[in-house]
Amino acid sequence: MMRNVRPFFAANWKMHMGPGETSRFIRAFMAAYEAHPDRRVVFFPPAISIASLQTAAADRPDLEVGIQDVHAEAQGAHTGAISAGMVAEAGVAWGLAGHSERRREFGDDDELVGRKLLRLLEAGVNPILCVGETLAEREEDRLYEVLSRQMATALRDLGSEDRRRLTYAYEPVWAIGTGKTASPDDASEAHGILRKRVAHLTDESTAEAAVILYGGSVKPDNIEELLAARGVDGVLVGGASLDSGGFARICAAGGG
Ligand code: PEP
Repeated sequence: MMRNVRPFFAANWKMHMGPGETSRFIRAFMAAYEAHPDRRVVFFPPAISIASLQTAAADRPDLEVGIQDVHAEAQGAHTGAISAGMVAEAGVAWGLAGHSERRREFGDDDELVGRKLLRLLEAGVNPILCVGETLAEREEDRLYEVLSRQMATALRDLGSEDRRRLTYAYEPVWAIGTGKTASPDDASEAHGILRKRVAHLTDESTAEAAVILYGGSVKPDNIEELLAARGVDGVLVGGASLDSGGFARICAAGGG
């Protein structure tokens, strides 16, 4: 890491943890992880469990909460969907957009992801834009092209102020939930590309300050080497964030 940014640890619970399990998890996590003012910890539970997390962590303002997805429209006849405005009203500070499971299962393409970014930004929710290549794209040497396209299309309709408010997650699709982790060098290379693209789409100082997370089979036993990789400012953790003790170890990594 070696950058002057606050290390960022995000837990993407996907479709795990109902309200009761969430309360139990957070109590166990709080016992295992003391607040570190120099680092950021954000949980992305299923929407139905957000209130439960907020209640359980009421005395721990260092533990923040995010939403895994929002609808691309601000409101309307979209049965089952949740808007960014509702999420903001519920006190949620962060929102994912473009997670590869949304892209694969729900058809979220770069254009739709861009509209979701706009809705989050309008509502005052901090977006984390997830990008990453598939195994086939990597094997065809298309890393640069894929990341550039994902970034350029998603940011296309964002004004310059909004572009400065984004956080990024590099999540190689082949490493998500597979147990395969990108090597620290692979992560550094991709983070370098992303930072260059941020500079191209904004300016050098925004790119320098941009927080870029790595995600893909992060675990307690590989967190130190990933956090030490050049350009890696934190991690987005799926499977390993479902274990309170293991995630507490991940959040304490990097010398904190
Ligand atoms: C994710 O869901 O963003 C993720 C990185 O999952 P996992 O850690 O399980 O690979």
